[in-house]
Amino acid sequence: MKTIKQWVGGGYWDGNPTGEIDVENPATGEVDAKLLQASSDDLDRAVEIAKEAQKKWAKVSLAKRTEVMFRMRQLVLDHQDEMARLIVAEHGKNYSDAIGEIQRGRETLDFATSINVALKGEHSFNISTGVDIHTLRQPVGVVAGICPFNFPAMVPMWMHPLAIATGNAFILKPSSATPSAALLTAELYKEAGLPDGVFQVLSGNRDLVTGILEHDGINAISFVGSTPVAHIVQNTGVAHGKRVQALGGANNHAIVMPDADLDFAAQHISAAAFGAAGERCMALPVVVAVGDTGDRLAQLVKQHAEKILVGPGMGEGVEMGPVISAKAKERIVGLIDDAEERGAKVVLDGRSLVVEGHEKGHFLGPTILTDVPLDAPAYYEEIFGPVLVIVHADSYEDAIGIVNAVEFGNGSAIFTNDGGMARRFTLDVEAGMVGVNVPIPTPVAYYSFGGWKQSLLGDTHIHGPEGVKFYTRAKAVTSRWPSEKTYAATMSFQREA
Ligand code: NAD
Repeated sequence: MKTIKQWVGGGYWDGNPTGEIDVENPATGEVDAKLLQASSDDLDRAVEIAKEAQKKWAKVSLAKRTEVMFRMRQLVLDHQDEMARLIVAEHGKNYSDAIGEIQRGRETLDFATSINVALKGEHSFNISTGVDIHTLRQPVGVVAGICPFNFPAMVPMWMHPLAIATGNAFILKPSSATPSAALLTAELYKEAGLPDGVFQVLSGNRDLVTGILEHDGINAISFVGSTPVAHIVQNTGVAHGKRVQALGGANNHAIVMPDADLDFAAQHISAAAFGAAGERCMALPVVVAVGDTGDRLAQLVKQHAEKILVGPGMGEGVEMGPVISAKAKERIVGLIDDAEERGAKVVLDGRSLVVEGHEKGHFLGPTILTDVPLDAPAYYEEIFGPVLVIVHADSYEDAIGIVNAVEFGNGSAIFTNDGGMARRFTLDVEAGMVGVNVPIPTPVAYYSFGGWKQSLLGDTHIHGPEGVKFYTRAKAVTSRWPSEKTYAATMSFQREA
């Protein structure tokens, strides 16, 4: 059985583990590896190494830092097949989706190669006679990234390229369910020429996360995961003097207007609801159908959804893999059962799907529910599985009321051919990422990613310009030189002319 170790100080390291965590292949239900859990001593050691490494790394020229980022970008491209296979084996998503997440993650490496542009400051000459001012942004120090299971490559890549390119040291705490992509990333950074200790990986459970949140040597925390944990991270991190960005869960809604192209909408809704078995924070689990569109839409989505080939992620033609664990499957089935008991119609039922040869895998087929009462947990909880709920609204006003009553505000979309209606929606909707006929409106890496309400705690979105801001501190420098003939010192606070 494979043992998965920490990556500390430039290499694999056992440390002094407190235990082991089973790493399972969700397509087979078999445990394929044991993951060592880092102890608080291991964390102390990694932080000490990171502090020393960061002091030196922050002094490395921007030219050299961007060279590392260019090399890293190429290495991730060269190794994407290997990384995708690791993701499929631990997460279960299909191979092309794993390649897709690496590609989207790599976009942040692309952005990081131009960090020299993003870090340009401002300069005003002669603000008083002989006095100039300029601004600069400096790294915050040691940054930790705490990540969810569902994007083992992309979510960490939303963080570390910018944290590192801006001169910080980065400690990655991957999900214990999907740790291997993080360790391959560490190997690639080393090959790219990143000095030892600037990027490290520590795995473990909630004790390790608490240790990170309370550690004196860590200056900032990027977190992506569920909302209850985002609250813990935000509250504990801030209480310990850290800068925190905490991206939480979601329950994304799309509105389908009666004038929308329903065939187009159905195809896109099916892909957005069932892609990656619904285990995306930008998945689309709820559609609000306006007027009499609901039943027709449900039938059209069904036609697409029942053609989806479900199976192990490396299987020929497979479009959807298993969910992450037996526990997750049980929870999702429970939510569907409960909605049915409350009067929902099951238009397409994926509960009893069995994949031949993978009977112990955690598979579910696409499921479509209509007539779901809004007080059913299947409607208002984050379902994080291959389930689409279609609810009805009489008008746009009713629909936007339903959407904005949701506690989360990650992404939202409208399907319509009416430009004025679309514009109105983009202004009305309480969500951080909005799509017009685009059901998964995930911004490219040179824009920032983030939600509103319970989908994002803290005030900065992740990656893009807001990522640069998060990982750096501003400084304004006012200077003059005695060689200039300036005014004599004065006790007054008045500005010199
Ligand atoms: P999770 O919250 O269970 O875990 C996230 C991280 O926190 C993991 O590294 C985990 O080890 C750690 N953790 C878990 N419980 C903890 C606790 N009690 N105390 C301290 N640390 C703890 O999330 P998950 O199940 O791995 O991922 C799915 C969730 O992530 C979904 O809610 C999804 O919407 C969300 N997500 C959000 C975004 C976004 O951009 N907003 C992106 C991806 C995933």
